[in-house]
Amino acid sequence: MGKASPETLLVCEHCDTVYRRRALVRGEVARCALCGAELERHHILSVNAMLALILTAAIVFVQANMWPIVTLGLSGQHSSTTLWGVILAMWHEHSQVVSVLVAATLFFFPLLKMSMLGWLLWFARAGRRAPGFVPLMVALHKLGPWTMSEVFVLGALVAIVKAHAYFEVTADPGIYAYAALTLLITVFAGVDLRQLWDEDLEARA
Ligand SMILES: [Zn+2]
Repeated sequence: MGKASPETLLVCEHCDTVYRRRALVRGEVARCALCGAELERHHILSVNAMLALILTAAIVFVQANMWPIVTLGLSGQHSSTTLWGVILAMWHEHSQVVSVLVAATLFFFPLLKMSMLGWLLWFARAGRRAPGFVPLMVALHKLGPWTMSEVFVLGALVAIVKAHAYFEVTADPGIYAYAALTLLITVFAGVDLRQLWDEDLEARA
């Protein structure tokens, strides 16, 4: 192994201090001795495990969008609606800004994030760097805070409980699918994606 090959060195993202890398044990986190920033953490999930997680999330995502999320009943009449039903209804009720925000944070951003992760992981699995690797990693980093299924699930459940005073309201499978998706997203939030940069280096070395 070379004296200063990139695999053996770690650079602090915050203060640029350079460290010699050593293998981490399960659950261990390496921190910068100067500024305390996280340098690296032990990889809990392999690339294959992450890919499996993304595929599961994609399946749940399809169900969350196809199944109705809520059924409203008023004087014997029942109507159920999907997420897209809600978004379109809001658009027609002159809440265009809210409907665009909901569509972006609950549909387009998660979809974009899952596709990008799936693409990167698919190539990482073969030990290769996916086409568009650098811009995609940057985009994923920026997209981080913009998927808010957890806020949606909580908000929807509160609204369902509140509306219960006026209508017959029942939560439908779609909302549970969203709850499951929230759990998957939370698991993924704990994954250090920086390891993808290394996985590639190891494969090429
Ligand atoms: Zn530092």
